[in-house]
Amino acid sequence: RKGTVIITGASSGLGLATAKSLAETGKWHIIMACRDFLKAEKAAKSVGMSKENYKVMHLDLASLDSVRQFVDNFKRTERPLDVLVCNAAVYQPTAKEASFTAEGFELSVGTNHLGHFLLSRLLLDYMKQSDYPSKRLIIVGSITGNTNTLAGNVPPKANLGDMRGLQGGLNGLNTSSMIDGGDFDGAKAYKDSKVCNMLTMQEFHRRYHEETGITFASLYPGCIATTGLFREHIPLFRLLFPPFQKYITKGFVSEEEAGKRLAQVVSDPSLTKSGVYWSWNKDSASFVNQLSQEASDADKARKVWEVSEKLVGLA
Ligand code: NDP
Repeated sequence: RKGTVIITGASSGLGLATAKSLAETGKWHIIMACRDFLKAEKAAKSVGMSKENYKVMHLDLASLDSVRQFVDNFKRTERPLDVLVCNAAVYQPTAKEASFTAEGFELSVGTNHLGHFLLSRLLLDYMKQSDYPSKRLIIVGSITGNTNTLAGNVPPKANLGDMRGLQGGLNGLNTSSMIDGGDFDGAKAYKDSKVCNMLTMQEFHRRYHEETGITFASLYPGCIATTGLFREHIPLFRLLFPPFQKYITKGFVSEEEAGKRLAQVVSDPSLTKSGVYWSWNKDSASFVNQLSQEASDADKARKVWEVSEKLVGLA
């Protein structure tokens, strides 16, 4: 049978390119989990995906009710779940003030981390029941959260600190909107959310890999300087960033190539190692990359997990 894969944020950028790449193999049914139904339908059409290979289902990660609703709706389709890809993200590098999810969490961490945390926790048991030979749960990471790299050292750097803000609920009222308790900084909030994504993947691996056989993985697909992620950046940045990445850092990767990379992590029979973070070298060959000290800190991973459970109402 075809594999069933859910991809969050498949309406543009990396998620869309991955959906396209998997659809072309004819071996996958793709659930495009998106907040904007029409945009997702148009996007699927624009890249030539054929109707029988995908279905758009509504998911707004900035609302935990919507996450629960999505999980119910998906289960009701009675499709098995073979692979889940947590890909959607918001990035607000120029925001002067924090904005918030439906439950009042700062938007970047609320969407990128907490929404995906609840989604993957709620789908884990269901995924366990699938008889697919290589089940996988993938959480897209980023180099920017990894302070052991050049890109990860561009200020403001990721830093979860003692997580006092996260423990307080990131609401910006009686507690900070930032995980470490500092002043709001949109670029840092994004990087912190990516550290949470990478820590969560490893904590999933420690808690569930042996019991479930599911492969848990994260990846940095390369710098896809052309996606919508940079939509809120100043125009000059958006003009100069792609050529800068292409010619100076040489980290540039096209949306199509990045989509093929994530599609490998979804389905390549040689990428079944669990608990790892994939990257690609200049020749587009995959390798298991090192995470920064903070992004591989097992104590922090457990703490992020436990605090997040409380915030999303699982504990
Ligand atoms: P895009 O902005 O193109 O795509 C982000 C997707 O997330 C969009 O489909 C967007 O939906 C969706 N999304 C945002 N908020 C929500 C929400 N509340 N609920 C549901 N979906 C939502 O960016 P990219 O393709 O670049 O980013 C995809 C992933 O790749 C992210 O995890 C990012 O961190 C990661 N990444 C990107 C890099 C890059 O260089 N671009 C580098 C490293 C990692 P909508 O279309 O409705 O806006």
